Amino acid sequence: MIETRGLTHRYGDADATAVRDVSLAIPDGEFLVLAGANGSGKSTLVRHFNGLLTPDEGDVEVDGTPVGDDLVAARTRVGMVFQEPRDCFVAATVARDVAFGPENLGLARTEIDRRVADALAAVGLADRGDERIDRLSGGEQERVAIAGALAMEPGHLVLDEPFAGLDEPARESVVAHLRALHREGTGVVLVTHDLRDVLDPADRLVVLADGEVAVDAPPTEAVERLDGLAVRRPD
Ligand code: ADP
Ligand code: MG
Repeated sequence: MIETRGLTHRYGDADATAVRDVSLAIPDGEFLVLAGANGSGKSTLVRHFNGLLTPDEGDVEVDGTPVGDDLVAARTRVGMVFQEPRDCFVAATVARDVAFGPENLGLARTEIDRRVADALAAVGLADRGDERIDRLSGGEQERVAIAGALAMEPGHLVLDEPFAGLDEPARESVVAHLRALHREGTGVVLVTHDLRDVLDPADRLVVLADGEVAVDAPPTEAVERLDGLAVRRPD
């Protein structure tokens, strides 16, 4: 469970508040889509889920423990995939990159190898471990980034605009893999303003506007309330 209570975030001493008084409980295994206009506070909010940012007011807990009290636990439970995976790769080849997180946990080699194999299989990249990341397509690189997060065996996988720069088939492939992960029990928090294909697997849609929760409802109900929120409605 990820839980925020009265979470407020300001950057520097800007008057503008990026996230304002957000209280959100995300149960284990939930598929939550987080939408909202550019600048509505989506990235700021999710960066609190594993302690990349510290609240100005309110608090954030993962499994009942304040994130700031145990950053390692929060980062193990909540896997993060950022917008530009290219900037986040640490190794030249697929398997070495995916192994990086588990290696830093100090796990035994056999356990690392098992996790890398499982994570690559989960994103359809089994047997591609020896390939160079820079030779892969954008969609494949996105899936490597997801595998890197999965290798930590997180309870929740948070993806911040994972479709940016992907063509349609790549996007569909990433969505299909997220659906499968969710079916197998991983919680998914998907940040996107493009709701095509993602509402069907989603349990819940939260829309931010100016840093506040404007809509928080099951998808079928939430889509009726998107007017003025700069969210692309599914066709
Ligand atoms: P979103 O991800 O929904 O586009 P962000 O969380 O990135 O929204 O941004 C929310 C608000 O905070 C915006 O007004 C943005 O300009 C501001 N902001 C984001 N990052 C920073 C930063 N590093 N420094 C100052 N202001 C920021
Ligand atoms: Mg963002």
